[in-house]
Amino acid sequence: MPDLDIGKLNALRGGRDANSNGMQCPALRQLKESTATHQAPSIEQGYFILTMMPSLYCELDCPHCYLSREQRKNPATLKTGALRKIITGVDAFYKARKIRGKTIQAYHYGGEPTSMGTDAFIEILDVIDSILKPESGYDVRHTILTSLAGVDLDIWHRVFRDRCGGRLQTSYDGRMRGRGYLKLWESQMRRARELGLKLSTISVLNTGMIKDGPEHAIDYLRELGVVEASFLPFMLNKQNSGKKYDVLAPSMSEWSNFMIELSRVWMARRANGVSVPEIGQMRFVLAQDEMWSPVSNVAGQTLFLMPDGSWSLPDYRNGREEYMLGFGNGLDDDFASILSSPKRREYLRRQIARNGNAECLECPHANRCVMEFWKANRSGDECFGGRRYIEWVLENRDRILSLDQCIDRDVLIY
Ligand code: SF4
Repeated sequence: MPDLDIGKLNALRGGRDANSNGMQCPALRQLKESTATHQAPSIEQGYFILTMMPSLYCELDCPHCYLSREQRKNPATLKTGALRKIITGVDAFYKARKIRGKTIQAYHYGGEPTSMGTDAFIEILDVIDSILKPESGYDVRHTILTSLAGVDLDIWHRVFRDRCGGRLQTSYDGRMRGRGYLKLWESQMRRARELGLKLSTISVLNTGMIKDGPEHAIDYLRELGVVEASFLPFMLNKQNSGKKYDVLAPSMSEWSNFMIELSRVWMARRANGVSVPEIGQMRFVLAQDEMWSPVSNVAGQTLFLMPDGSWSLPDYRNGREEYMLGFGNGLDDDFASILSSPKRREYLRRQIARNGNAECLECPHANRCVMEFWKANRSGDECFGGRRYIEWVLENRDRILSLDQCIDRDVLIY
């Protein structure tokens, strides 16, 4: 069965390299420099966000977590022998395809990745690095997303420093996890900064953060030394369905209001020479606008590797309830057949068709929108792509680009 040829589809639909005034945003330049083909990145073309979930274990119980309590309490991990077999399969795929330059963003997620302990975790890094070697054309970059709860930074900082380019990514959710947690998290952030790590945050925007306001968020993160901050919409899942979701999840209209105000504060601080964190979604919209590809913001560049060896992605049922959809197991099936499996092909077709949402098919922003994994929009609310925020970013593009002098070039925004 032939692959879904994302590169060909992109070429057929046409692409463009720069916006109308010829400016290129640094995030796009960086993305292009990091991809082998300079086309819309996809796994098949050699750009792979290898989302590593070898352990789902986590001591926390966050309302926005897409994992069930049973998954988070399960200490089972993907053993290194199994991982070796799976990653060897990925390498065999690229060898057979004769793709020379490959960028692998190994994104260590979970669960809490550090719950495995440094020895087991380093073994995982070693397996990946020993197979996907630079001399075979691989550029492998490791990023760890951690809650920082219970992480002994005096031990772990060496892993961040030596294996992750000195970067640490952590979740920030305001007071949603409780004041005690926040206090502990702050002290961990200060320690990580003292240890010389470069800090970035991912937030799932919740109603408490909206109450505190965007100005508070950006100044708070700046004060902690954060160089890059991302703010995602709060998703419905089986765990939070009902009271928690109703109380904690802002509407997309509130999300756009927050993001616009946050970006206004960002511009004002930058104009005054204050080095505030990069805002992930602002950069993403600008980069996508310049790339102008119908497939670069679909899920064609990522797969999640689960503890049992299965390759999965978040999907939605009952409209917009999030769950993990498996495409096949890397221990049983070769990587090429997983990529071209009927389930993944169907999934990608739905992504490219914007989930069939009538409003998305007509929308001029479908190629630059922040809809993460395409799904039905919520009735009576703005869309999950943040259309109003996109329009604000585009209106303010030149001003944003003129304020780029402080950008930290080592940071990768996605
Ligand atoms: S911006 Fe909104 S309406 Fe437009 S494509 Fe994205 S999700 Fe759909």
